[in-house]
Amino acid sequence: MIKNISVIGTGYLGATHAACMAELGFDVVGVDVDPEKIEHLSRGDLPFHEPGLPELIRRHVDSGRLCFTTDLESVGGWADVHFIAVGTPQQAGGTGADLTYVDTAAVSLAQAITKDSLIVGKSTVPVGTARRLSSLIAEESRDDVSVSLAWNPEFLREGFAVEDTLRPDRLVVGVGSEADEAVLREVYAEALSRETPWVSTDFETAELVKVAANAFLATKISFINAFSEVTETVGGDIRTLADAIGHDTRIGRKFLNAGVGFGGGCLPKDIRALQTRVSELGLDHTMTFLNEMDQINLRRRERVVTLSEQILGDLAGRRIAVLGVTFKPLSDDVRDSPGLDVANRLFNAGADVFVYDPEGNANAAKRFPRLGYVDSLAEAARDADLVVLTTEWNEFKALTPADLEDVVAARNFLDARHVLDAGQWESAGWTFAQLGRMFPQ
Ligand code: NAD
Repeated sequence: MIKNISVIGTGYLGATHAACMAELGFDVVGVDVDPEKIEHLSRGDLPFHEPGLPELIRRHVDSGRLCFTTDLESVGGWADVHFIAVGTPQQAGGTGADLTYVDTAAVSLAQAITKDSLIVGKSTVPVGTARRLSSLIAEESRDDVSVSLAWNPEFLREGFAVEDTLRPDRLVVGVGSEADEAVLREVYAEALSRETPWVSTDFETAELVKVAANAFLATKISFINAFSEVTETVGGDIRTLADAIGHDTRIGRKFLNAGVGFGGGCLPKDIRALQTRVSELGLDHTMTFLNEMDQINLRRRERVVTLSEQILGDLAGRRIAVLGVTFKPLSDDVRDSPGLDVANRLFNAGADVFVYDPEGNANAAKRFPRLGYVDSLAEAARDADLVVLTTEWNEFKALTPADLEDVVAARNFLDARHVLDAGQWESAGWTFAQLGRMFPQ
């Protein structure tokens, strides 16, 4: 019977997974190499923003079912199942995935394990990684214990991480034996009792399912954004277009929102890593469209700058409010964030940029300390020559012209997420630009 679970890596994915495993009734130890993170988590503090997660962590730290440590050795003889949830960022100076953390975690774990157990990779990895790690683990683990590997990619969305982990829309496991699958069925028994789709397959399929899902989502976003470039030139309403094609259930409306594009710690690096991997396999021609998707995505960020210049002329010395620097609402994650990139590009074009994000200012300031960071929407917009909405937080979606008209220096608004009603702003006397919508030259 599975009782004890370790989770190696307690970032966005690992901290969520550890807390949710405790919620399901297991005894859980989260392990990380970052002592500061472990100190926070051990006190029940979450070092990042994720709705519902702090409460869950506190509840299970208090109940004694969840604890955190930097000592990997301590879980080697204790856990029945070890999840690996360390980062696989884009390589510095390259486009492939940096697998150093996954490799290190797998090897150190294999060396630390002193009882029969299953290692389960959750990190997003290039196809072929699990099979390679499986051999590495066999080499590194003791001869008197049985240690095997499974791959169980994670599909959670930041902002909905707890819900997605406790009530996933599918579970995918890449396994090498029926016995390993049985262990995972036991871990996920609660979700399976609700008839959650269970996909049991080989390592390669499991690894590819994750990157294929991300590539498909990125493609949907860039697809509608390519059409945005057309409607910006010839006219037409991109939102109506998205609604109309989205009614076709084969297409679906989700992920068809025109705007400044995708970002975050997953989609951009995952599609680049996929291209790099297929190229290593001699299959460059299969995924060339992903490069196009990436280019469309990055062009949207530059479009915000050119539109700002259309509105203001030279940006040097102009005051611009940037609303939203997290890559999406309900998160404080600014990794590869379109909003933060736009803010930095505007700054590089000479503008005085004032950023306000409900959760992301602190992380953004670590990456781009030169920008101005303020604590409220009104402060950001005060005396602004232009207000740019870059992340669709509810607070920004609810904005009306009356909220800002006495605050700004000039009534110029650029809605880079296409979430506001252009007519309402224009009839209140604003110059209102929107990605996906024609703007007079
Ligand atoms: P993260 O950077 O927030 O967390 C990674 C953690 O691993 C860090 O705390 C780091 O200190 C720790 N770590 C690194 N090496 C370690 C080691 N040897 N031992 C113990 N801890 C170690 O990253 P994340 O966003 O949680 O992503 C983790 C993985 O999950 C990535 O592969 C990512 O692509 C994938 N993923 C993330 C999400 C998401 O929404 N964030 C969703 C699905 C999949």
